[in-house]
Amino acid sequence: MKPITARHFTERLQRGSAAAREAGYDGLLIAPGADLSYFADYRPAAVTERITLLVIPADPAVQPAMVVPALEHDGAADTRAAAAIRLVDWSDGEDEYVPTAALLAPDGRYALSDATWSLHLLGLQDRLPNARFEAISRALPMLRAVKDDDEIDRLAAAGAAADAAFDDIVSTRFAGRTEKDVAADLAALLREHGHEQVDFTLVASGPNGANPHHEPGERTIEDGDMVVLDFGGLMDGYGSDTTRTVHVGEPTDEEHEVFEVVKRAQQAAFDAVAVGVPLQDIDRVARTIIADAGYGEHFIHRVGHGIGMTTHEPPYLVEGERQPIVEGMCFSLEPGIYLPGRFGVRIEDIVVATDNGASRLNNSSRDLHLVR
Ligand code: ZN
Ligand code: ZN
Ligand code: ZN
Repeated sequence: MKPITARHFTERLQRGSAAAREAGYDGLLIAPGADLSYFADYRPAAVTERITLLVIPADPAVQPAMVVPALEHDGAADTRAAAAIRLVDWSDGEDEYVPTAALLAPDGRYALSDATWSLHLLGLQDRLPNARFEAISRALPMLRAVKDDDEIDRLAAAGAAADAAFDDIVSTRFAGRTEKDVAADLAALLREHGHEQVDFTLVASGPNGANPHHEPGERTIEDGDMVVLDFGGLMDGYGSDTTRTVHVGEPTDEEHEVFEVVKRAQQAAFDAVAVGVPLQDIDRVARTIIADAGYGEHFIHRVGHGIGMTTHEPPYLVEGERQPIVEGMCFSLEPGIYLPGRFGVRIEDIVVATDNGASRLNNSSRDLHLVR
């Protein structure tokens, strides 16, 4: 796979600066987490009460700067983005908000990483009572939503690994085993296929399938159960997230029908993806099919979410989100039907928006798998 090079990080910093400028901010304040990995290629060994903060000024003439604890200087200097970022060290015993505030305009307006510790925000507000700080997810929700080719390659590789884990799990026995056991196997398979981190392996059998966020438990899977499998994590820094619904033995006509409605809704959502279409329209397309089939009240969540260096991030495909689809956005399409006390069905793929519609990054079969 092509490496993400120093040039890519420079471009990301420039894009961040431009986005701040266009939205009327004086800069972006980026705290450790996915935002900092994205812009600065930097993951501090531990996120602690010591402040680490990247400042990306809206003014393109001013170089980005990052305040770092002096004891972590070497790690911060050893990244692919280091040449583009000036490091500002501070030492224990020093007031860390003095050098941090010195990088900011006293009456500036800044978009700040959601994951910034409130400790640090309060410290900055204390030093700069006239500055304004806003959550970056509200200020610039689409900042990381459009993926470049290297990111799409990584998301595709993570998706393929998740598909391989699924292809393996369906050949194993389900009946007579607990949800927890199957979930543990699924997690091991994700790692075997290259994931460095497993974020979730939901195994929801029978009536538990009616809860979209059911935590796998001690229930023993039985013949006749629908089983929803929703799993994902990170591979090479990028996320996977896919759902397949399987059935133990032969399904009833009703189970088959509900499954086919979800499958049609998922396909229709996929077919509706096009550059320029408002994100909420994709949700509406899937919802209309499910409602027309008589299950509208049982589709109880949005149809999708973005994915990148985290498994849930903007853009959200939800009623009220009028932002248009942009080429390079990567997101899930995951309609479901949940019948309380009985069973649930969900089918989820990650797709990328191209200038020629959507392209799937999950390609395991979407048919109803019959397992043992
Ligand atoms: Zn059944
Ligand atoms: Zn999922
Ligand atoms: Zn998802």
